[in-house]
Amino acid sequence: MELERELESLEGEIADRLKSVSSLEELDSIRVEYLGRKGKLTALLRRMGQLPPELRPVIGRKANELRQRLESAIQEKAIALKEEGKRKRLAAETIDITLPGRRPALGVKHPITQTLERIKEIFVGMGFEVVEGPEIETEYYNFEALNTPWYHPARDMQDTFYITDSILLRTQTSPVQIRVMESRKPPIRIIAPGKVYRRDADISHSPMFHQVEGLLVDRHVTFAELKGVLAAFARQMFGPETKVRFRPSFFPFTEPSAEVDISCIICGGKGCQTCGWTGWMEILGAGSVDPEVFKAVGYDPEEVTGFAFGMGVERIAMLKFGINDIRLFFENDIRFLSQF
Ligand SMILES: [Zn+2]
Repeated sequence: MELERELESLEGEIADRLKSVSSLEELDSIRVEYLGRKGKLTALLRRMGQLPPELRPVIGRKANELRQRLESAIQEKAIALKEEGKRKRLAAETIDITLPGRRPALGVKHPITQTLERIKEIFVGMGFEVVEGPEIETEYYNFEALNTPWYHPARDMQDTFYITDSILLRTQTSPVQIRVMESRKPPIRIIAPGKVYRRDADISHSPMFHQVEGLLVDRHVTFAELKGVLAAFARQMFGPETKVRFRPSFFPFTEPSAEVDISCIICGGKGCQTCGWTGWMEILGAGSVDPEVFKAVGYDPEEVTGFAFGMGVERIAMLKFGINDIRLFFENDIRFLSQF
């Protein structure tokens, strides 16, 4: 029977084509070609009318079974193609976890900030309070009240940035001491960290640098306590083996005054190039508060005594980190800063 044979060969034809299908688009065009309204199977079924009536149900059933088989074969193929596509996409998107990662660039605190924080931490640990004051000061607070009248040689010692005749960029953090003593009664135990300005720039001087000033005022405060506080600071800052020595010096607002040295942190006191073969390094200035300073703020020098000290933070950082040029701190070269 011709129609029956045609149905069988149509099935074989489609089976062959389905084997080589590689995309969903191609699969859909095959579906349309055979099962669509103008498709080959549909065309065959139209010819059923030509068959003798007794054969029509038999061929009709076969044709319907064929259509169902073809539809499910196409559906299966579609599922297989989708799975295949998903596998290929996943393979292409695979992450190679054996590749070395890229480390994010993390910032660190500036060495001056680190040093300043350590200094504050040490003095806060000894009961000192951190106080700050203005960077733009009057002549009165920067010099006059600190026992440095206009004719005093100390004013020549410091080259000052003047804004007007009587307003200037503070050359030291000492004015904060005066402001605190004016507004409070003893006992006082403060440190005043901050920026100061001097007309000076070379390998060891910067026109802007940081100072920490300390002040302790109470009844019966002696020079021995000053030595104790500064020795404790030096040991915590530079290590427990650090020795301290005091040399007589001069500052307008302390009497007596001293320069304070620590044993060289490079050679431990034996003598090396860094300490100029002396075994010592200067780290700060200090002394007992001059009675004239107490009088200027309305304290009675017969009632109270005290001591003050001041240090350059850059100098401490240079010693601690072994840096030989102060300008490195302010160039902000990441290759330098990232070492701390
Ligand atoms: Zn040395």
